[in-house]
Amino acid sequence: MLDGVGHGVVAVDREWRLSFVNAWMERVLGRSRQELLGRELWTEFPTLRTSSFGDVYRRAMRDGVEVVHEDFVPSSNAWFESRASPSATGLILFIRDVTERRRAAQALSESEARFRNMADNAPVMLWVSDETGACLWLNRQWHDYTGQSEQAGLGLGWLDSVHPEDRERTAEAFLGSNVSREPFRVEYRIRSRHGEYRWAIDAASPRLGSSGEFLGYIGTVTDIHERKRSEERLAFMSEASRILAESLDYEATLAHATELAVPTLGEWCMLDILEEGGGIKRVKVSCVDPTLDALVRDTVRFPPAVTGHPRHSPSRALVEGRAILVEDAGDDYKQQAAFGPEHLAHMRAIGFQSVMSVPLVARGRTLGVLTFLAIAPGRRFTQADLETAEDLARRAALAVDNGRLYREAQQAVRVREEFLQVASHELKTPLTPLSLKLQMLARAAETFPRERFPRLPGDVEMMLQQVKRLSSLMDELLDISRINAGRFSLTLEVMDLCSLVRDTMGRFEPEVLRMGGRLVADVPDALVGVWDRQRLEQVMTNLLSNALKYGGGRPVQVRVWEEGGVACMVVRDEGIGISPEALPRIFEKFERAVSERHYGGLGLGLYITRQIVEALGGTIRAESVKDQGSSFTVELPLTPRPAGPGTPATGAR
Ligand code: ADP
Repeated sequence: MLDGVGHGVVAVDREWRLSFVNAWMERVLGRSRQELLGRELWTEFPTLRTSSFGDVYRRAMRDGVEVVHEDFVPSSNAWFESRASPSATGLILFIRDVTERRRAAQALSESEARFRNMADNAPVMLWVSDETGACLWLNRQWHDYTGQSEQAGLGLGWLDSVHPEDRERTAEAFLGSNVSREPFRVEYRIRSRHGEYRWAIDAASPRLGSSGEFLGYIGTVTDIHERKRSEERLAFMSEASRILAESLDYEATLAHATELAVPTLGEWCMLDILEEGGGIKRVKVSCVDPTLDALVRDTVRFPPAVTGHPRHSPSRALVEGRAILVEDAGDDYKQQAAFGPEHLAHMRAIGFQSVMSVPLVARGRTLGVLTFLAIAPGRRFTQADLETAEDLARRAALAVDNGRLYREAQQAVRVREEFLQVASHELKTPLTPLSLKLQMLARAAETFPRERFPRLPGDVEMMLQQVKRLSSLMDELLDISRINAGRFSLTLEVMDLCSLVRDTMGRFEPEVLRMGGRLVADVPDALVGVWDRQRLEQVMTNLLSNALKYGGGRPVQVRVWEEGGVACMVVRDEGIGISPEALPRIFEKFERAVSERHYGGLGLGLYITRQIVEALGGTIRAESVKDQGSSFTVELPLTPRPAGPGTPATGAR
């Protein structure tokens, strides 16, 4: 029976004589059973005597205990396992070739050693966890990076190196994944051995056994701090640019930018602004840590020295007009930068370890300085931080400059408007008596002998026309100053648009006749609505006078009709038209599409017209083809819509 087994069986009696050898053994030894039985083991196999197997057999025989032993046999170039079991007559030896098993085990331990070696030397941190989520192993990089001992990181100990604010989130990601068993990624801040928290990404994949069973995870932790910081800086800059562009109130804007800068550009940011008189004021200090509030208040006592200071970073930036970075602002820096003992104590109390200052320079003029302090443990400013700070300062200075220019421009506009108001009023005042005197002169002239004063009636008429024109220009200017000052108002009444249109056209008849043109009306009997009569007359007058002025002497058509509760009016001419580029501008203040040499005018008529139409809740638009004519369409609701914001209020003029 023992012949069929896949290993050797040999029996010896107490005198070491062979009493049994199975077929497997015969094959391995290359000797037959007949040859061996009754012979002494040690004589037949002399090398056995001195081998480790020999020792084991002797011990088993001597002590009567079973002994199992494994060793390499050079003559067979194989590993054997031998079990020596005492029997009633001696020993039974079971012998097995275990070369394959040995090689596999060796390969495994070699591969494990290789893995550890590789993992320890990998440029990233590595970890392995078990199926409960507990950490089994961390590579050397982890220990080097965090300063944590090998034992301390095991289990959930590694969480101690994670930023307290990120710990819960990270633990959740880890423990949750042991249920999902999916690959996962989590970003958290990890404390370096220098005490600085840096951003890292942890990417984990499930570990599966040979039959697919879940064994835990293997993961890598990569420092992504610089990438994260540059993303943060980018996001910060785009937010800062938005805020800086938002308002033209520069002090508020700068204060806002200072607030925004923490903590991206340091835990503390302060703004010093040069004053008109040459002094300097610390106008804003932002700090992330509320426990430093007292120091924040106190710091206004230590603005930069406008006369300069060889070491103090803000003073240097201000006077030298360039960015200053002090990466290591330890106690040496503080001692050298301090204005005096109180300032030194103040700086020590803040406890920053890095500082940078950037001047705010706009069009060659230094406006102030922004200073950033790094207070968080281990944080040091880098060149990249400085560049972001400079970028911020450039944009902030630009915002300040824009704000100042805007204020100056506003002031200039205000002065101009005041002037317009006074000038148009003052210039108009003498026109009324002048016009009256001219009318009297015209009447008197009729009694003068014609032959002596042949040109007088014509001259007086011409003067009256000119005074009228001057007066209407003054009216336009007065209207503009009223609109600008928000004093433009409407007087509403129930009125008929058609009779107003007919009357106004009638007033233009003499002029039309003189110019040899023609006015064509397509106006119904009546169209009643609630409007401002005088203002609508102004609209009509402006549109008609433009149509005649730019109409090239050809017919001008006026059409009025009603459509769904809206009164529509079109004034169409066949004159010079308006170029497509000029068309969108003509309703703006002072905008003109013709050269002033050929056509007089202030470019205000259509602007005022649009203001009136819109105040009545209506719209006006122009269509035109160059050299073929223009048409202006006004649409007015029959009753004004409720006034929206910015719409002039109705009431007394
Ligand atoms: P202006 O006092 O110059 O006429 P407006 O505000 O009334 O000012 O018109 C603005 C500009 O629009 C004019 O200078 C002219 O170039 C153009 N414009 C207005 N009406 C017409 C029209 N009917 N045909 C051609 N151009 C016109």
